[in-house]
Parts: sequence; C-alpha cells; structure tokens
Amino acid sequence: MTRRAFRFAPSPNGALHLGHAYSACLNSDMAQAAGARFLLRMEDIDIARCTPAFEQAIYDDLAWLGLEWEMPVRRQSEHFADYRAALDTLVDAGLVYPGFMSRGEVRDWIAEHGGGDWPRDPDGASLYPGIERDQAESVWRRRIGEGEPFAWRLDVERALAHARSSPGWDETGAGPGGETGQVEGDAAAWGDVVIARKEIPTSYHLAVVVDDALQAITDVVRGSDLFHATSVHRLLQDLLGFAPPLYHHHRLVLDADGRKLSKSRRDTAIGALRAAGAPPRDIRRMVGLD
Ligand code: GLU
Repeated sequence: MTRRAFRFAPSPNGALHLGHAYSACLNSDMAQAAGARFLLRMEDIDIARCTPAFEQAIYDDLAWLGLEWEMPVRRQSEHFADYRAALDTLVDAGLVYPGFMSRGEVRDWIAEHGGGDWPRDPDGASLYPGIERDQAESVWRRRIGEGEPFAWRLDVERALAHARSSPGWDETGAGPGGETGQVEGDAAAWGDVVIARKEIPTSYHLAVVVDDALQAITDVVRGSDLFHATSVHRLLQDLLGFAPPLYHHHRLVLDADGRKLSKSRRDTAIGALRAAGAPPRDIRRMVGLD
C-alpha cells in the first residue's frame, strides 16, 4: 500500500500568522500519527505578490516550530506546464470557455440586471452571469488571437452533466456549518468559476487539484474557509480523472474580536512572536494544540 501523504500549502505573499501555525502543526501532527509523509508546497502562482523573502521566512518559521518536511518543496511557479496540460484537457472537452468581460463590466451588468439580488457564491461574491458562455468558438478563437484579455471559466452546467453529479467527499473535520462525514458537493453554487487566466494558465482551484494529484496527497488538512471550495475541487478531480483525497477542514484561529487573522497584522505573525521571545511550545498552546 502506498503511504498516506499530508501537505501544508502556504502562499508566500505575506508573513505566516498563528492561523498558519495551527494548520501546519495540525498537518504535521496528523501525518505523524498516521505514519504518513508530510510535504510542503509553495502556492506562488501570483508571481507579482509572492517573493523569495516571504518564502524563506516561511521555512524559518516552520523550522523554528519544529516541523520537518520532505525535500524538495514543490513550487507552483515552476510547474505552469502541468497546469497548462490540465487546462488543455478541459478546453478540448469543451468544459471551459473564455470570458472577456472585465470585473467592472460584470459588476455593471449585474447592477443593471437585479443588482444586490443577484445570486452569490458561498464566499458572498456575485455569481458571474454566464453571458459569454454561448459565444461561438470561431468568435472566441479570433478574439484570443487578437490579444484580448480573458479568463477561462468552467462551464459548470456542462461539467456537472459530464460528471453526472456534483461529487461529494469524506470530511473528517467540519465545515463552517458543522458539516462532517459524507458531504454532498454543490459546485453549481460557484457558477462558472475562473479556472485560468490569459497570462497565468491556472488559478488556485486548478493548481491545487493538479498538485494534490501529482504529489499523491491522500489527506488535505486546511482551514474551514476552504470547505465550500472543495465542491469545485472535487468536480475538477472527477473531470481530470484524479482520485479524491480525504478532507479535514479545521477551525480557524480568530483574533480577540472574533475575526479571521490576516497576513497584514504584525502582532499575530509567527516571526514577531518569535522575536518577542515566545518559545515554540507557547505558539502550540496559543492555538490550542497542547
Ligand atoms: N494556499 C492556500 C492558502 O494559503 C491554501 C490552499 C489549500 O490548502 O488548499 O490559503
């Protein structure tokens, strides 16, 4: 039997905070308890905001917390060809199409057609209205050839027909509403999500699914803020022929006002706590692990 594999997948676009410490330590603890592999992945497709300095700080923070991970670390920015191949599979199957409307144009269209009542995705953003879905291929190929900016969008209705249903998953943690066990997928709630862009042949959703498959990840342990996105990931896995991992969504570490921590806050950054003299075991205690 192949060994189980867990991964922690931060984006090096800011300093890690207590929420990341909790996620990384929980991943490592669960991997150890299962006799599994523990991998680290740099989710740095946003090459404008991710920097080598943030990446180095992540290694320093995680090593200081006492974590050990397999080498080499996979960096998404070095694997655009893998995402391009997956995207091509979806394009060839007619399951994605290019949307040329800018965010502002989509917003204006929605404002003119019902505004605030427009359906929203699970993160609360207005659903893309799908108005470019039926553009003839000859037209969109010409527009792409002319260099117009666009984003590849999943035709979620066709994708769901192709997959026969919105695939669910085994949840060993819990979603924001306490969902656990056998969870039903609801990819349609996301509408025609962006799967890739003109300049970057991927998006978070596509890259995470391709990487989890290529790295043979069996267990995804991550924050419950990504619970609903799992419906999109499960659908992409089925469309691309990837085996689904087990999912464990964990609680988020909140600040004193009950808000999600953010990378821009200095006081909960692991590096700042370390500089202030806190030992690593204090961090584990602060996030409720010991
Ligand atoms: N890169 C994502 C983040 O930093 C995590 C992705 C995942 O674990 O699936 O929030």
